[in-house]
Amino acid sequence: MPATVLTSAAPPRRPLGLGVRASLFAVGLVLATAAISSIAVIIGFENESRRHQETGGREVADRVARYSADAIARGDFPSVATNVARMASRSEVQRVVVTDAAGAEIASHGAAAERQELGLISRVAQRRELTLARASGDALITIEPIEHGGRLLGVAAVTIKPQGFRYNAMLALTPFFLALVCFMLVAIPAVVSIVRRALRPLEVLTHFAEEMGDRGDAAPVSLKTGDEFEVLASAFNQMIARLQASMKKIQQIAFVDPVTQLPNQDRFQRELDFAILQAGQGDALAAVFVFEFQRLPRLMQTLDPEAARELMRLVAERFMGAVRATDRLIRLQQAQERPATGARLGAHDFAVLAPRIASPAEAARFAQQLHTALEQPFEWRAHKIALGAIGGVALAPRDGREADSVIRHARMALGAAQGAPSRLKIFTPSIDRAAMARLVLERDMRAAIERGEFRAFFQPKVNLSSGRMEGVEALARWLRPDGALVSPARFIPAAEENGLIELLSNAILREACWKGAAWSRAGMATKIAVNVSALQLRNKRFAEHVLHLIKQAGLAPHLLELEITESVAMEDAAHAVRVLEPLREAGVRLAIDDFGCGHSSLAALSQLPVDVIKIDRQFVAGLGSDKQAEAIVEMILALAATLGHGVVAEGVERRDQAEFLAARGCVWGQGFLYSAAVPAEDLVRDWLGRRAEQDEQAA
Ligand code: C2E
Ligand code: CA
Ligand code: CA
Repeated sequence: MPATVLTSAAPPRRPLGLGVRASLFAVGLVLATAAISSIAVIIGFENESRRHQETGGREVADRVARYSADAIARGDFPSVATNVARMASRSEVQRVVVTDAAGAEIASHGAAAERQELGLISRVAQRRELTLARASGDALITIEPIEHGGRLLGVAAVTIKPQGFRYNAMLALTPFFLALVCFMLVAIPAVVSIVRRALRPLEVLTHFAEEMGDRGDAAPVSLKTGDEFEVLASAFNQMIARLQASMKKIQQIAFVDPVTQLPNQDRFQRELDFAILQAGQGDALAAVFVFEFQRLPRLMQTLDPEAARELMRLVAERFMGAVRATDRLIRLQQAQERPATGARLGAHDFAVLAPRIASPAEAARFAQQLHTALEQPFEWRAHKIALGAIGGVALAPRDGREADSVIRHARMALGAAQGAPSRLKIFTPSIDRAAMARLVLERDMRAAIERGEFRAFFQPKVNLSSGRMEGVEALARWLRPDGALVSPARFIPAAEENGLIELLSNAILREACWKGAAWSRAGMATKIAVNVSALQLRNKRFAEHVLHLIKQAGLAPHLLELEITESVAMEDAAHAVRVLEPLREAGVRLAIDDFGCGHSSLAALSQLPVDVIKIDRQFVAGLGSDKQAEAIVEMILALAATLGHGVVAEGVERRDQAEFLAARGCVWGQGFLYSAAVPAEDLVRDWLGRRAEQDEQAA
């Protein structure tokens, strides 16, 4: 047997493993061999012992027959009897009988003869040959004819005791059995040890396979047996190595963001779940920070995919750098033991997990420090990049005992941070309530859009000097089935947040187009302005959609005016120009809404294909009381005159405002002084119809 080198840990003993079964089998085999050889020896001994008895019986019978032959021939019967008695006195002999040729007894000694013996005697008398037979109790009967000079004189029958002339089994076989026992005492342990040794590598392999099954991992097996076991062991090792390599790959795919190599959301969730588990029942907190980079999406859109990935990697690097620096600064030695970890949660948002945060105040300090670091602008490929970070914070287990809910709450805080001056929020139950309310509102709005509860109302735009209506603005109103009117101030911001604004604005746009076309057909053609949201403008097919709508409705393109707020238009002026170009070409007019509130650059403003500027109503409200507002209004009017744009003043409520504006060259005004936004029927009755009548009279 080749040498076995075992370096793995000792395998556990299994009560009825293959080793035990094989040992039991081998021991059984040894015992069976011993038993069979014992039986063979005993049978052989027994046969030999019987043969010895028969020889002894025959010898006695022979001596009786020979002595009796001479005595009977002489007629000396007393001498026969004496001889019979002498022979019968031997310890092996049970009985001796001598008969004459006719079977009549001449002499006998011992117990009475049995019938069987008498029958045998007469048969021997006839056939004249020696006969052996077994009597009851295994006594041996030997019967011999008594002959003299070829003449049959009688028969001698000798019965030997069952044990007569037998060997003593005890004495004869004791050495054999002693040797056998000694042999087994040596053979059984030897057999067991040989079998176990032979099967030991199998146990090592089994143990290895079990470990793999239990823990999915095990130290490689090293078997140097030089036989199939060694081949098997190295095959196992190779298999495991491959398995581990593919596991690693799968984990990489499943848990790592391919672009930034940061942990992904799944991985982050697991780590957070683990941190929550470790925090246990104690008052240790784990803080989750979610940061969104609001300027990133726009920037990414303008980059080719390779550049976008490069920027993303750079952002991730800066993010992690900021996380580590903040961690060292705020959490001090905690950071050494269990550092904060970062992850990429979505396209433009990242998360940080800081385990063992001492208090909500520390979490707030951490968030602030990190936010400040993230807000530092940086240079990349000749771009100066500011990420526009906003952040939300949630604490576990305070804000949730499961990773899911903690992350959700941090995201809710992030949502609330959008409107906060600090651009940071820590989750509170009121944020949760507000989020719930938003959710309910969103659900209601969806249903309302489907039921057509959003309707366009129309506000006239009036020529300030003539008082004549020269256009209308379509404004969305939510007419609830119970007759209540919901203000856009409530639902427009919500719709912008939940993305329903596109659907809603499109519905208003459609209605406005159809109404405008109908008025045209009725001889009451008027310019109709519609508000456009940032989200609509982001849609690449916006122009296509609008052109399709006006064509469907049959509205002349020059009657449609799209109002885009200054901030939306200036956010990415180049993009706005691109999207709006086809509309301009078709003759659709463009207005800049809420002008004066945003940060227009003159360069961008001159680039935009604008027809009209709308002065925001906050400046109009200041006319007559606020010198600064007046100055701004004058400036806007001068600017518009230079660029050749028309001007509409919003929120004209008093006559003096209208006069101020008209005196400085503002052509149009819009406001409660003339009319609030009214349903289409009211507009037709009070404005469009009246104007048509006046036109008719004038003609
Ligand atoms: P906006 O485009 O600046 O619309 C003018 C707002 O001023 C309207 O508010 C209008 O009712 C109000 N207004 C008009 N005259 C006066 C006045 O003399 N004094 C005062 N204080 N206010 C006056 P409304 O209808 O509440 O709309 C608010 C904003 O919601 C709009 O501001 C517009 O940005 C947005 N919006 C309304 N309808 C739509 C729509 O269909 N789509 C989109 N994207 N936005 C809409
Ligand atoms: Ca408007
Ligand atoms: Ca406005």
